[in-house]
Amino acid sequence: MLNTLRKIVQEVNAAKDLKAALGIIVQRVKEAMGSQVCSVYLLDPETNRFVLMATDGLNKRSIGKVSMAPNEGLVGLVGTREEPLNLEDAAAHPRYRYFAETGEERYASFLGSPIIHHRKVMGVLVIQQKERRQFDEGEEAFLVTMSAQLAGVIAHAEATGSIRGLGRQGKGIQEAKFIGVPGSPGAAVGTAVVVLPAADLEVVPDKHVEDVAAELLLFSTALDGVRNDMRALSAKMASQLRPEERALFDVYLMMLEDAALGNEVVKVIKTGQWAQGALRQVIGEHVNRFELMDDAYLRERASDVKDLGRRLLAYLQQARQQTLVYPDNCILVSEELSPAMLGEVPEGKLVGLISVQGSGNSHVAIFARAMGIPTVMGVVDLPYSKIDGIQLIVDGYHGEVFTNPSELLRKQYAEVVEEERQLTQGLDALRGLPCETLDGYRMPLWVNTGLLADVKRAQERGAEGVGLYRTEVPFMIKERFPSEKEQLAIYREQLVAFHPLPVTMRSLDIGGDKALSYFPIKEENPFLGWRGIRVTLDHPEIFLVQTRAMLKASEGLDNLRILLPMISGIQELEEALHLIHRSWGEVRDEGVDIPLPPVGVMIEIPAAVYQVRELARQVDFLSVGSNDLTQYLLAVDRNNPRVADLYDFLHPAVLQALCTVVEGAHAEGKPVSICGEMAGDPAAAVLLMAMGFDSLSMNATNLPKVKWLLRQISLGKAKELLAQVMTIDNPQVIHSTLQLALRNLGLGRMINPASDIQA
Ligand code: PEP
Ligand code: MG
Repeated sequence: MLNTLRKIVQEVNAAKDLKAALGIIVQRVKEAMGSQVCSVYLLDPETNRFVLMATDGLNKRSIGKVSMAPNEGLVGLVGTREEPLNLEDAAAHPRYRYFAETGEERYASFLGSPIIHHRKVMGVLVIQQKERRQFDEGEEAFLVTMSAQLAGVIAHAEATGSIRGLGRQGKGIQEAKFIGVPGSPGAAVGTAVVVLPAADLEVVPDKHVEDVAAELLLFSTALDGVRNDMRALSAKMASQLRPEERALFDVYLMMLEDAALGNEVVKVIKTGQWAQGALRQVIGEHVNRFELMDDAYLRERASDVKDLGRRLLAYLQQARQQTLVYPDNCILVSEELSPAMLGEVPEGKLVGLISVQGSGNSHVAIFARAMGIPTVMGVVDLPYSKIDGIQLIVDGYHGEVFTNPSELLRKQYAEVVEEERQLTQGLDALRGLPCETLDGYRMPLWVNTGLLADVKRAQERGAEGVGLYRTEVPFMIKERFPSEKEQLAIYREQLVAFHPLPVTMRSLDIGGDKALSYFPIKEENPFLGWRGIRVTLDHPEIFLVQTRAMLKASEGLDNLRILLPMISGIQELEEALHLIHRSWGEVRDEGVDIPLPPVGVMIEIPAAVYQVRELARQVDFLSVGSNDLTQYLLAVDRNNPRVADLYDFLHPAVLQALCTVVEGAHAEGKPVSICGEMAGDPAAAVLLMAMGFDSLSMNATNLPKVKWLLRQISLGKAKELLAQVMTIDNPQVIHSTLQLALRNLGLGRMINPASDIQA
């Protein structure tokens, strides 16, 4: 049974469009269940009717013609009740409705299952049979499983159809909306550029080309390249492999022959498809064919074909690398955006970002906010490989993406972009003013840095120090660990740029979603695994080199502070402190005369909240990493779009933990700051100030907004608001209470400018 399911889903997945996908579904499900009819009805959102879209068994001429409202017929009943319906005698049911054109009067029994994707009913899958009998439990379970698995595939095919004009019944290219989660606020209108990870065939997009000859040439060069590699590899292995094992290379070479795979790719290129797209299509078809075979040996051959495809693609991508053009108003789209991809786009061209994976708390979203680029994350249903070159709107306030937007919608969003620009310009005037509340309370605003551009932006916006310098960023853009000398130069640049203001440098915090290409960490649960201080304590050589570089860089400046991430207990802290003292001793032995800088601990693991006083006693300051603290307190993966709406730093449990940390730090006479994204949220900043945080550290883009808001409110009022919020047990109510209070104070200006658009 499982095998049948797997095969059907795989075949449907490989279908070229929605119509073909539905055709395969009805035919295969009918066969598998031994029924006489299988049909799919899809809910048309425009007419709100279930339309017969495919059938094997009913009159095919009724496809697209027969439809019913949710309150009509058995299909409507399955759709509205969101439950399967199993009837021995369908005609006897009060909701039965007869459609003469389908010829269904001959079928007595009926089994229907709703097709639901992300809580939304997309349609109904139905099987029917002549004889009167109740379908058994196993059959019902099979159909329910089938519809659950097909829902995603249908959603994907439908979305692709609307984008490429292959939608239902040949409706042309349409505006379509895809829901993700907000990554970085702001809106952008522009052109999609799909960025691919290296040599991943499955995600190569379709692209139409005019210059077919150039693509053919690229492909034949790639073929030659792989052929040569195969021959060389085979010769190299001659002494280690038996002749029959080496035969594999001959098989590869045969597959590449002009009469085989190579020729098929050439044919597709000649239809106007670029070489990479043609390769994906042909390899995909072959892989599918092999994977569907019952013989285990032949099934295994699918991986050979995939490997060959990857090798060819690597050559094609190499040749393409120099020619990737970024248009003006470029919106970068990728299955999983990485900080390195952002750096590739020439300055001034990038207006928006879309990532299919990840959430608003992923590191790439944090960088996007720092750069002030509107971003939507976790748009899991976006058929991103099909959208290269089309017009898009990114709504980073609501986490929505529009493909092929109408003229009207484009105009509305262009106005939002302009409003936001004016708002930012207006805030520039705050630069030289202190962050002081109406009742004279000074709240120091610091910045988080990492990217090079952050330094300039932070200085332009009047930051009073660096609360978090993410040192892993310079590590991420290298191809090996930077040497002590290289690190020293990078750190010195930061320290000099902000001198005499303090710069808090965090020791290397890799793991989780921050990977170094040259130090891969593969784990089942990366956020609960080898991360932050755990990695560097296991590799003291990395930690010692880094802290030595920091200490040397601070010579004569005296503005360095060192911060330790992911501390979960006293033992880790003591080990790290011991290493810092060792570095300091070594540096002084080398003749560099510097004082021991203040050392702090990040409070970002629940265990550290409970041990806050013990930790505070041993260090000079604390800094709350609310991004991780929220993820660990609520058990919500900060990177997973499926649970993104459960991630909430205004959850009462998080707010209580923050109060505990401030009290604990102050009881030990130590200052405490907060450097998670929460500090840069203007409304949350009001609460944090009231809690007693000694400084708030945020991205430079948000700093003027926070300053504007805190200058409009008194500490007294903020404390009142906090007291009110702390009595509320429901996160939603906390959000609305806070928003309402700020609106009533006339401070609603910071609430998103795109709130009026109804699309
Ligand atoms: C945090 O966890 O809040 C934090 C500031 O660190 P990062 O986002 O880099 O994990
Ligand atoms: Mg963290």
